[in-house]
Amino acid sequence: RAIASRIVVVPSTGSTNRDLIAQASEAPAQWPHLSVLITDDQTAGRGRLDRQWSAPAGTSLAISVLLRPDELPGSLPVGAFGWLPLIAGVAMKRAVTAAGARGAELKWPNDVLIEGRKVCGILAELLPDASAVVVGSGLNLTIGADELPVETATSLQLAGVEEPDPDAILAAYLDELRVLTYELANAQGNADGSGIRSLIERECATVGRDVRIELPGGRIERARATGLDEGGRLMVITDAGPAAVAAGDVTHLRY
Ligand code: ATP
Repeated sequence: RAIASRIVVVPSTGSTNRDLIAQASEAPAQWPHLSVLITDDQTAGRGRLDRQWSAPAGTSLAISVLLRPDELPGSLPVGAFGWLPLIAGVAMKRAVTAAGARGAELKWPNDVLIEGRKVCGILAELLPDASAVVVGSGLNLTIGADELPVETATSLQLAGVEEPDPDAILAAYLDELRVLTYELANAQGNADGSGIRSLIERECATVGRDVRIELPGGRIERARATGLDEGGRLMVITDAGPAAVAAGDVTHLRY
């Protein structure tokens, strides 16, 4: 079973997302749908809002996957891109669970947590010509307690998976991601597009919880998260009433 069209592993690089965006823009024919670029030594990783993502060399995986909406069965309009980090989060949650991690949770909009700590962060970015999307994830495999980049982080090993097998996790992740992106694309052109939405709503541990939303400029809203809307935005109820928040409008979300 093909899990990817092309897999390139590099010993070290600044950012796999940045490289895949540049290379797929320059030579599109060489980077088909489901091309993957990986390293276990990413030296200048980024999170949302250009925040730093870092991990000691050899202790984690940076995995960037190229998705070409034209090659998916239905369609993937720009309005559906908000689903991609969530779908990747579901895929990663399933992959680490299959590897033996217990209690992995998807936190809206782009993290996988174990016991409240971040084991994986995800960043989806459009190519400059908007022809494709790169979905990047940083997965902490064997970072030790004394070398965590931030105190809110964890690794699979710290969470009890003694020897995480990168190949098995990668294969499971790519397999899940391939299936879920097909389902998402199918759902867009389908009157019953609610299937994938309710699946992710069920899988997303943020739904149903009280959240503290930090907005640009430092304003803080307290709300109850009630669901996800058709674009993957978080539906909340605040004192002022119902609202939908987009990932791009939130600086931090805390429970
Ligand atoms: P938040 O971290 O507030 O939940 P976020 O989920 O949107 O926000 P991102 O901006 O996507 O986070 O990721 C960057 C943040 O992740 C950094 O600011 C840092 O706190 C944290 N971080 C950096 N490297 C790692 C890592 N290897 N593991 C876990 N967390 C990390």
